[in-house]
Amino acid sequence: MYVVCNEHLDIAIEEFIDVYEQPPDIYELDKVSFTDWTSPHTCDFCDKKPKYLIV
Ligand SMILES: [Zn+2]
Repeated sequence: MYVVCNEHLDIAIEEFIDVYEQPPDIYELDKVSFTDWTSPHTCDFCDKKPKYLIV
């Protein structure tokens, strides 16, 4: 699972496919909410605010 900003979306998708050998599902963080999970405040690849969840 990756949480990334707009800039690192492509990198995260490539990594996901490398690791899991299938395309990820991509969600916009502001359009989903998870009861048991608080979204991280920073991108996995930098310190910006994340925009996408890749699972
Ligand atoms: Zn980033």
